[in-house]
Parts: sequence; C-alpha cells; structure tokens
Amino acid sequence: MGLDVTWAVKWLTLSAQAMAEHRVELIELDRAIGDSDHGENMDRGFQAVLDRLAETPPDTPGAALKLTAMALMSKVGGAAGPLYGTAFLRAATALGDAAYIDAPTLAAALGAARDGIVARGKAESGDKTMVDAWTPAVDAALAAAAGGDTLSVLIAAAEAAEAGAVATDPLVARKGRASYLGERSAGHRDPGAASSALILRAAAGAAA
Ligand code: ADP
Ligand code: MG
Ligand code: MG
Repeated sequence: MGLDVTWAVKWLTLSAQAMAEHRVELIELDRAIGDSDHGENMDRGFQAVLDRLAETPPDTPGAALKLTAMALMSKVGGAAGPLYGTAFLRAATALGDAAYIDAPTLAAALGAARDGIVARGKAESGDKTMVDAWTPAVDAALAAAAGGDTLSVLIAAAEAAEAGAVATDPLVARKGRASYLGERSAGHRDPGAASSALILRAAAGAAA
C-alpha cells in the first residue's frame, strides 16, 4: 500500500484551500519584505491547479504533481512560480509511474523537490527563503522514513517546515527581493517559507 493518486489530489485540493485561507497573511508577510504579491500569486496558482485537475484527472501521484508543476510555472510568476514549478516537477520525476508511494520513496521525492529549489534559486540554508522550510522538512522526513509510515513522514516534514519558517524571522535575507532590504529584512517571516509550510501541512492533512 502507501499513498495513491487520491491522496495526491486531496493534497493539492487542501493546498489550494490553504492558499485561499492564508492569502491575506501571505500578502502581509510579502508586504513587509517584498512586493505584497505572494498570497495572490499562490492563490491564483493553486486555483489553476484545481482547474487542471478537474479538466484532466491524473492517474498517478506523479502525474498529479507534474500537472501541478505546469500550472504553477504558468500562473504563479515572480520568483516563487519557477521555484515551486521545479520542486513539483522534480518530485514528479522521482515518483515516476508508481501507483503507490511508500515512506522512503516519499522522503526521497521531498528531497528531490528541495534539491530542485536549490538548483533553481541557488539559496543556501539561512538565506531566509523557502529553502529554510524545505531543508529541515526533508531532514525530518528522511529520519522518519527509517522505520515510520508515510503519515509519520508527512507529519515530521510539516512540523519541521513550520519550525523552519518561524526560524526565518530573525534572519537577514541574502536571496530574492527581500535581500534588497539588507538588515531591515530581519524581524519578518519569509513568505515563501510560510507558504511551503502550509503546503507540507496540507500533504500531512491529506494522509490523515
Ligand atoms: P517575487 O519576490 O518575485 O514577488 P513571490 O513574492 O511570489 O515572488 O515569492 C517570494 C518568495 O520566493 C520568497 O519569500 C522566498 O521564499 C522565495 N525566493 C525568492 N528567491 C529565492 C531563491 N533564490 N531561492 C529560494 N527561494 C527564493
Ligand atoms: Mg512578492
Ligand atoms: Mg512579485
């Protein structure tokens, strides 16, 4: 057994709901250290994901994530569109045609997503970006996969991503638009780390 396409579609549906619910909050975070559009970008992008899921229902988790990558790349724009697009595309490639995802495969797919974000954006840990949510999430997922089931992997990833997002508060941004503010970027949460934590929490919620 393991996670199947029904889980993937539920994950993406819960992600879209989370982006709609937290739209204003993500806009406010981006207003402080960016250009106020992150909530709008993510809400628009995930609504496009829902449209495509309805148009062409995927057969496998990998197909669902590939469709998501395409929708986010074409609709999100800004820095986050290509970064999330690459993340979902790399995760889709890691899953291939598999109908079911086990815990080690799941952790590996999350690692592939994180590696895609790093390859695309060249941010390191501590640069105050979404990488600061993804890297602890992947570390926690890999640890949980050694002996745990898929739900425990996703819960560990979501908790670590949330802690990672909170931990961006005091950091000075070294990548992206927030880096233009220099020291003044400290004291605010990174919007992309916050949206990443919401997406990973949705993944756990879909498996529960
Ligand atoms: P933009 O900054 O173009 O308006 P968004 O507001 O949608 O795009 O997304 C901003 C988020 O993108 C940031 O909060 C950060 O998490 C992420 N980001 C920006 N640049 C990078 C990068 N080089 N590597 C990783 N993440 C990045
Ligand atoms: Mg922005
Ligand atoms: Mg922008």
